[in-house]
Amino acid sequence: MSDSQDKYVSFQNVQKSYDGDSLVVKGFNLDIKKGEFVTMLGPSGSGKTTCLMMLAGFETPTSGEIYIDGQPVNRIAPHKRNIGMMFQNYALFPHMTVVENLAYPLQFRKMSKSDIETKVKRALDMVELTGFETRRPGFLSGGQQQRVALARALVFEPSLVLMDEPLGALDKHLREQMQYEIKHIHARTGVTVVYVTHDQTEALTMSDRIAVFNHGIVQQLDTPQALYERPSNSFVANFIGETNALTGELVGFDGANCIVDVDGHKLISTAVTIAEKGAQAMISVRPERMVLNPEENSTCNNIIQGKVEERIYHGDHVRLRISAMQKNEFILKVPNSETNAGLKEGEGVRLGWSSSDARALDLV
Ligand code: ADP
Repeated sequence: MSDSQDKYVSFQNVQKSYDGDSLVVKGFNLDIKKGEFVTMLGPSGSGKTTCLMMLAGFETPTSGEIYIDGQPVNRIAPHKRNIGMMFQNYALFPHMTVVENLAYPLQFRKMSKSDIETKVKRALDMVELTGFETRRPGFLSGGQQQRVALARALVFEPSLVLMDEPLGALDKHLREQMQYEIKHIHARTGVTVVYVTHDQTEALTMSDRIAVFNHGIVQQLDTPQALYERPSNSFVANFIGETNALTGELVGFDGANCIVDVDGHKLISTAVTIAEKGAQAMISVRPERMVLNPEENSTCNNIIQGKVEERIYHGDHVRLRISAMQKNEFILKVPNSETNAGLKEGEGVRLGWSSSDARALDLV
């Protein structure tokens, strides 16, 4: 792949301050490949929308440069960037029919009447809204309105589409359905998508890669699987998925592993990003990687005693809250077997995990 395809969108050392004093985006670098689906994920106020607005052209970077297809765009007006947009509050025109809403971006681009007709038909087909041509937005359901908004973002066949919490107003079921729909349309059209959300499940479901933001800084940029399986710091481990987090003092190393003292318990973990002996470290173990009452020959090299505090039946699995090591609580997800489903609250158990499933990380 050529450089321009590898860096179809490129943020280079971009910073943004609104008040001339504090930076809400700091030293932001991101290269997005042509056709990629990249999500900016992070808590509210972490700088995601600001980055998207700078890419769209509605905000200007305080320093640094943004490139689209090799061209610096800082001085190019939004409507000349040829970007499709779908925002939660980027409403449809209420007085126009579905067709008129979709034709609008094409008329703006001075396309011929027959071109407009073909493209509108194709876009309606793509979002499965054929038959709704003459409806006004007020007579469509929330999900159908979002489909029209999606069709409008894609109707002029842009090679880049930006979406900012586009599904935030929909209920859970519709939101999940639209996530798959957007994902399929992305796969079919090959359009490059930059997506903003604070919802980690949405990001994990849809993205090729995710940039995790906190306080205007990208904490990790990786595939969904790598973010979940191999978080590189304590913020990412806590933000993506559920984790059992234990904090203690790093007391030694053993090859690729390290030993962290948590309230007098020496726990063996994979040393990921930790400083020197004496530093504080966080150990992260996913709930589904913890083993209840491990057998003699198991690979668990960390075993502690605990007590079942709560057992919740979830149909396909059982969720346990277990107290252990004085003040610590652990969450486990175990298969719905007869033994696990029959556990009683208050019952004593052994809790085990392998050092390969425990990641020792710097505290950030
Ligand atoms: P996110 O999308 O992650 O919620 P934003 O990019 O919207 O974060 O906001 C990052 C920070 O910048 C926040 O502290 C927010 O209050 C501030 N901010 C956003 N837009 C403006 C603006 N137009 N003027 C001043 N401050 C802003």
